[in-house]
Amino acid sequence: MSIPELTRVSELFSYRNGELYAEDVPVRQIAAQVGTPFYVYSSAAFSERYRRFAAAFGAERPLICYAVKANSNLAVVRLFATLGAGADVVSEGELRRALTAGVPPERIVFSGIGKTAQEMTAALTAGIHQINVESVPELHQLSAIANGLGRIAPVVLRVNPDVDALTHAKIATGKKENKFGIDFDEAAAVYRLAKTLPGLAPVGFAVHIGSQLVDLEPYRHAFSRLAELVRAVRDTGLAVDRIDLGGGLGIRYRGECAPKIEDYAQLARSIFGGLDVSLAFEPGRILTASAGLLVTRVIYVKQAKTRRFVIVDAAMNDLIRPALYDAWHDIMTVDKPPLTVEFKPADVVGPVCETGDTFAVDRALPSLAPGDLIAFTAAGAYGAVMSSTYNSRLLVPEVLVAGARSAVIRARPSYEALLALDQIPAWLDQGAVAQPHRRGVA
Ligand SMILES: *Cc1c(COP(=O)(O)O)cnc(C)c1O
Repeated sequence: MSIPELTRVSELFSYRNGELYAEDVPVRQIAAQVGTPFYVYSSAAFSERYRRFAAAFGAERPLICYAVKANSNLAVVRLFATLGAGADVVSEGELRRALTAGVPPERIVFSGIGKTAQEMTAALTAGIHQINVESVPELHQLSAIANGLGRIAPVVLRVNPDVDALTHAKIATGKKENKFGIDFDEAAAVYRLAKTLPGLAPVGFAVHIGSQLVDLEPYRHAFSRLAELVRAVRDTGLAVDRIDLGGGLGIRYRGECAPKIEDYAQLARSIFGGLDVSLAFEPGRILTASAGLLVTRVIYVKQAKTRRFVIVDAAMNDLIRPALYDAWHDIMTVDKPPLTVEFKPADVVGPVCETGDTFAVDRALPSLAPGDLIAFTAAGAYGAVMSSTYNSRLLVPEVLVAGARSAVIRARPSYEALLALDQIPAWLDQGAVAQPHRRGVA
């Protein structure tokens, strides 16, 4: 099978006739339809990323479980499912999303260190592909539940290879001091234990050492340790059929030199090719980040003594990555800046009452005026999914484009719906307050 000519993701968000388009749809037109701020995703970009990931493994056809937490909109999960992806889920909610989006249960893996009894029951009842177990207490719990349901849980042990992923500390997961996985040195013994417990079928091992990895060396290290573990366990007479290599592949947000998917695939194949195991991957960010923009409108431009503040209608509750990880997102103006325009530094900030509500500091931007639209790029992963309603701000809409088509895939809720989530207890529900405050009484 020949690989089709790949579309460059960057071409899917580009200027035409002086304004920014998402595929064949003007971003300004979407803003007029749904209001700002909003997320917009390119179907072609999602598809291109997935196909490229799958193609990098050629005929081996590993199980590619899209890490739903990167962008869990049902339409996005459905799109990946139609391309053949499975799903990596970390909660009952994500399990339900994957199943609702049409991911076959036999392509779903369940990860995470704190699965509850209810979540295990849901996973076993759905008959998913495997449960990635991260501790001995979790193993006992799963055994009890599977046994009670009269089912056999396919178990993969997630091991902690004690490898420095060389990424932001908050998203590094593979060092022994991190909360994730079973200590490498204990993994073989825990696998043997799993073999003795009722209701469990230990079938392999998993690693996931962190997110936004831009260096292949930590992968090489972790994968090699895992291969060593497979051999050691097999030497004791136990079968190991599956290896799950997690996700974490980084993208270029700023100047990073992100690894090529093909090199990553080649690395995995070179280490596991001769081991006769079936491989699984859990990519999230690499499939989605570059496929999304967060579009926002300038509310005010405030020229303080030493700085220019561009105050926009998006805030940290809509895109928390800059506040949480000091993340960088490129900014594009929706109007293409004229070639002669002068770029000057500006801080781009949201309206929330926290200094952390800052998207960019000293960013070179053309002059901007209230009403102008700007877009944060590479916002398709860990964007909308991490949003909240802090400051009683409404969750922002998500829009999916495909060629000249566009559809709202999550609408902005109403204030009524937001307020309806709260309830006033009966003992406070006495109608008018007895002593209203008076204003302006001298
Ligand atoms: C978050 C996570 C992933 C996906 O990570 P990306 O960096 O988005 O690829 C995969 N597997 C597990 C277990 C995770 O926790």
